[in-house]
Amino acid sequence: MTTIVVFSHLRWDFVFQRPQHLLSRLARHYPVLFVEEPEHDDGAPFMERSHPATNVTVCRAHTTIHATGFHDDQLRLLQPMIAQLAPPGERTVAWFYTPMALPLLQSLQPSLVVYDCMDELASFKNPPKQLLQRESALLNIADLVFAGGPSLYEAKKNRHPNVHCFSSSVDVVHFQQALDRSRVHPQQRDIPHPRLGFYGVLDERFDPELVGELADAHPEWQLVLAGPVVKIDEARLPRRANIHYLGQQPYAALPDLLAGWDVCLMPFAINEATRFISPTKVLEYMAAQLPIVSTPIADVANPYGHVVAIASGAREFVAACEAALALGPEQRAHMIAAMNAVVAATSWDNTARHMHELLDATPARSEGRAAQRAASPQAAVQPASQLAGAAPKVNALRSQGARHVGTVIIGGGPTGLSAAYHLGADTLLLDRNETVGGWCRSIEDKGFTFDYAGHIMFSNDPYVLKMYELLLGDNVHWQNREAWVWSKGVYTRYPFQGALYGLPPKVITECVMGAIEARYGTSVAQVSNDAKAVEDCCADGTTDVCNTDRAVRGEVKNFEQFIYKVWGKGIAKHFAIPYNRKLWTVPPSEMETSWLGGRVPLPNLEEIVQGALEPAPKPVGPNARFGYPRKGGFQALMNGFLPHIKGKVELGAEVVQVLPREHIVALADGRRFRYDDLISTMPLPELIKAVGDEAPEEVRRAARGLRHVSVRCVNIGLGVDNGRLVTDKHWIYYPENTIFHRIFVQGNASPQCNPPGGFGFTCEISYSPTKPLPFDGEELIARAIEDCRRVGFILDRDRILVANQLDLPYAYVLYDHQRARNVETCKAWLKQFDITLVGRYSEWEYYNSDHALLAGKRGAEAVLAKRSRAQKVGAE
Ligand SMILES: Cc1cc2nc3c(=O)[nH]c(=O)nc-3n(C[C@H](O)[C@H](O)[C@H](O)COP(=O)(O)OP(=O)(O)OC[C@H]3O[C@@H](n4cnc5c(N)ncnc54)[C@H](O)[C@@H]3O)c2cc1C
Repeated sequence: MTTIVVFSHLRWDFVFQRPQHLLSRLARHYPVLFVEEPEHDDGAPFMERSHPATNVTVCRAHTTIHATGFHDDQLRLLQPMIAQLAPPGERTVAWFYTPMALPLLQSLQPSLVVYDCMDELASFKNPPKQLLQRESALLNIADLVFAGGPSLYEAKKNRHPNVHCFSSSVDVVHFQQALDRSRVHPQQRDIPHPRLGFYGVLDERFDPELVGELADAHPEWQLVLAGPVVKIDEARLPRRANIHYLGQQPYAALPDLLAGWDVCLMPFAINEATRFISPTKVLEYMAAQLPIVSTPIADVANPYGHVVAIASGAREFVAACEAALALGPEQRAHMIAAMNAVVAATSWDNTARHMHELLDATPARSEGRAAQRAASPQAAVQPASQLAGAAPKVNALRSQGARHVGTVIIGGGPTGLSAAYHLGADTLLLDRNETVGGWCRSIEDKGFTFDYAGHIMFSNDPYVLKMYELLLGDNVHWQNREAWVWSKGVYTRYPFQGALYGLPPKVITECVMGAIEARYGTSVAQVSNDAKAVEDCCADGTTDVCNTDRAVRGEVKNFEQFIYKVWGKGIAKHFAIPYNRKLWTVPPSEMETSWLGGRVPLPNLEEIVQGALEPAPKPVGPNARFGYPRKGGFQALMNGFLPHIKGKVELGAEVVQVLPREHIVALADGRRFRYDDLISTMPLPELIKAVGDEAPEEVRRAARGLRHVSVRCVNIGLGVDNGRLVTDKHWIYYPENTIFHRIFVQGNASPQCNPPGGFGFTCEISYSPTKPLPFDGEELIARAIEDCRRVGFILDRDRILVANQLDLPYAYVLYDHQRARNVETCKAWLKQFDITLVGRYSEWEYYNSDHALLAGKRGAEAVLAKRSRAQKVGAE
């Protein structure tokens, strides 16, 4: 069995952290010899051995040399002892935490060399002068490099071809013991509350001034600091009656400490030593479900800024602690949910498992090569890329034939196309379809053009408007929308609440009275003027709150309550509830409301009453206008990208596997591409499926929990006599008992979608596991035609020239109450790899195509920014 020989600058019985977590787990597969820095002893040199964990042996050399650490003076005595560590003839894995021990590699015959870079040691106080040079040499020699957090990964990934980001994780079961708040740590038993605590090493990374100011700001707060004081002068530590130093604590005692704290602190100094740190304790604090306040450490602020209060300077830090202590039950519940999601997405077990897989999968090096290199003076300066036989980025089998591309983009919908447009030549866009455009594609059938569900162009964003110009030139026309609702046997304009005229008097009365009750049943004190108007630019008929100008900071818990508050019970009954139920396939009470803009607008009574007394006028103004390509359907907008894309576009290319750690995508046709960056626009649940077992079970579970609604389009091309205008409307909502919820009148989006004498339209039918399609195939088409006749849309004399179906399996993201947490879990896990998620289905958001264009741009910019940061680091 292969033994792992570890060289560490941290002693095993020092603070229990990354090396102990990982190696005690890897010890299930390999015997671990943990070689510590030598200790001075006047007697004959010897190797002291201890066994702190199963299959782990700690080896501490005792030598007569006074120089500390793996100092060059020690090497002569250490080498023979190291040579005898592994059983004779056995090849080992050499595993380094400190590059300073690199010369000792000559005493081993390693089959693999691993550098687990958990800190930027050169930035710490008084680093050994050879450290940087030895690290360069180690990076040249190592087969695998693990980086302990995103910042370290960024710093190392261009210095070695096989770097993997393994952020610190957490032993959840251990730290959740702190949830039993009755646990008592004897040293803090008599310290009153509120207690604000920190545990960890007190060294140059700790900010004593900040802690002093915190103690002064609130003498009634008790600051508990538990950890050894290292490298800094103890006199620098602030001394106050309300600061309590408990000294180093055993790992087993940490939950007891946490159980008695009210707030957890990370008062790190912002300096060179903390630039790359990824503090393990942040996840441990989260497992204990306690509010956390931290200074702006990059690897804390970036992944965890949504759960950890980030505060710069003493004043902000004090304020953040005050806020943490004042958290109400609801905020606390929200915080705990977010923390649980983060913690659920990671575990030391998984990290160790992935490392084990990588160790297993990486081909063994040829005998003696590493040792020769370690001894060679060039090793320190030769760039990794020039080393013959440098470790491949992925193991040989998995990467066989993988072509390298700077950026791979999965998906050629508007998001992917926009990303490709905003990136350079070294880009490969892959889409499984035979044409670009995703759901913004169109088809032609006997001279009729149909979209994949009705699509219109609408945006207030100047950049998007410019893109429309670039993509379509003058192949566009803009017109005022004619959006209508069919109910109670009459057409009324959309939005329903502003155009009740023509409905039966009883219905109007119920709608008006309901709106009055909704408004005046609400406390005036709650009214605010900052309602954020939500535009129904996707024309789904679900979010348009029209000109409502005031809002309650409502306590609405779900979409159903939102509907009752915004429109009142009459409008809810006659339109909003039945329509939304039909579209979303679930009761609106199962949905939350974040996607509606976060505010609850009050009914605009004037609009409602006026719209009930006289026919609503044609909508005017910029928001009433929409654009559509004159010819070619919505597809024309998508095709407009192609001449402008510098990279390669591959169609009919279905991605079936994604290996995030190896940076590889595999296609159904067997081809493989290795990327530096991946932009994914494919549906998030599908991406996680493509990752497979490499994703932890919590992530796969979260992905399975993401719900969506599908749409089936029944497209119909009519032959109409004597140029009959079937309708002058652009789309119509059907809240009642038709099989479809909307008809999109393709023939009026642009007349060029119709052949001469023909008129095309699309019946949109939503479905999901909670509302399956009642029929399929020809039966479904027949039912749609029958319903069109019943509502008078098709007349008996009209001929059906064309009838076909298009299916959109992922059409609408369902904003159920679990969505935010599930999305967060998936994103948090994927974040550690170079995968950028953009687009409606990848970000799992209610985006229209204009948002998609911007999302693609954002994705491209993120990749470019990362590259330029990497170049800067390389140049330094
Ligand atoms: C019913 C409906 C009506 C809409 N109406 C409007 C409207 O009126 N106006 C508007 O602006 N927007 C509208 N939208 C929204 C618009 O369609 C989306 O915002 C847009 O398509 C999202 O673009 P995307 O590129 O993010 O995703 P998509 O369009 O879904 O593109 C993703 C692409 O990824 C590809 N892909 C997925 N998996 C793989 C894989 N494994 N390998 C390779 N390729 C893969 C797919 O083939 C697809 O081409 C509507 C959407 C729907 C469903």
